[in-house]
Amino acid sequence: MRHTKLMEGAREVAKRLSDAGHQAYFAGGCVRDLLLGFEPKDFDIATDARPEDVRRLFRRRVEVGAAFGVVRVLLEDGREYEVATFRTEDGYEDGRRPDHVEYSTSADEDVQRRDFTINALLMDPKTEGIIDKVQGRKDLEAGLVRAVGDAHRRFREDRLRMLRAVRFSARFGFVIEDDTWAAMKAHASELRVVSRERVVAELHGIWRSSRPGRGLMLLRESGLLGPALPFLAGVPEEDLLALETRLARLPELLFEPDPLFVVAWALHLDAVQAAPAEPWAQRLVQDFKLSRSLARAITDVLAWRSVLCAPEQSRIGRCRQLLIAPEWATAFGFLRAREGGASASAEWWRTAERELREHPPALDARLGGDDLRALGLAPGPAFKEILEEVELEVLEGRLETKEESLAWVRAKA
Ligand code: ATP
Ligand code: MG
Repeated sequence: MRHTKLMEGAREVAKRLSDAGHQAYFAGGCVRDLLLGFEPKDFDIATDARPEDVRRLFRRRVEVGAAFGVVRVLLEDGREYEVATFRTEDGYEDGRRPDHVEYSTSADEDVQRRDFTINALLMDPKTEGIIDKVQGRKDLEAGLVRAVGDAHRRFREDRLRMLRAVRFSARFGFVIEDDTWAAMKAHASELRVVSRERVVAELHGIWRSSRPGRGLMLLRESGLLGPALPFLAGVPEEDLLALETRLARLPELLFEPDPLFVVAWALHLDAVQAAPAEPWAQRLVQDFKLSRSLARAITDVLAWRSVLCAPEQSRIGRCRQLLIAPEWATAFGFLRAREGGASASAEWWRTAERELREHPPALDARLGGDDLRALGLAPGPAFKEILEEVELEVLEGRLETKEESLAWVRAKA
């Protein structure tokens, strides 16, 4: 087992707790990842110490709001750890999020409230021994996502767990165990009670996993897709299958999360034929609580859809406008996901990009509003059109200096 700095810090935190007479274990995702041979991106520590005791032991902390029984402790060099007091079931009144917790002094009880067996393993940091009360190791080895306890009850408590099952399956390529899967199908429509923010966070997790195509397949077959993304209701099966193929290309396109989310959203909206006619930017912000900048980036890419997908049928100047636009890299990612990296259209764009690099247009020859005013033209709606026309002429190589552009406008006016 590789001992990273992050893991060493987690040991330090656990040791301080055990030196004070408490139990302290690595818990949940970090144990799962260690056993799978992945480097955990964070370590959570479970303890019988009450939050007030944890606070006494750790003066440096990140104050977090709503999370019950969780203290975020901070080591000198900025490493952060979540220390969570053992608890029994969380109190779920509404299937959305816990409204209270009951602390416990028993590690056994603590694992019973966790969502899936693969997430319910504890590790003793001193011995690296695994404490497995739910046969999680067996499921980890078999590659199964299985609810802890009665799946129906667990999904009724917190409907988000259904999306988490899909996310873990998409991340690790695991199969969702039969009873767990049957319960997901039975409760899928109840996902609607979960807040949009939590749903979107899980969708993003699925999209940036190594198997986003599989994620879509599971969402579709479980019946979670409609409740998660209602705008996809009514999209024919074959279009959803096409979307699955497109999403499956995302990991090989090696995106940073931000452009990846832009492309993934754009692919989903693209599956709805009517997409561009709708005020999507606004809907994405309102219905899905996306940030304005993310929503804008998505609609910016979609606005280029027809040029992107059929460049030969577009004016070359328009194509070059896209090539020099800030959203070009993301738009090209969208195209490669949509049509495949070796598609004729992707090849067309690569050639066009090379040509533009070899024969760069004289971008300084473009004009601005001030230039038109100086020519004595009255500002108005026609301004934009004239400036656009000049830009296209410049990009097509017919205007090479500002003087030529001004003369061109004068001749037209
Ligand atoms: P990731 O690597 O994506 O962070 P994770 O398993 O660490 O995966 P977290 O959301 O960080 O997931 O949660 C940490 C642990 O808390 C989980 O492993 C699981 O034991 C428990 N947990 C988290 N969310 C829930 C939930 N909704 N219901 C029950 N247990 C949960
Ligand atoms: Mg985690």
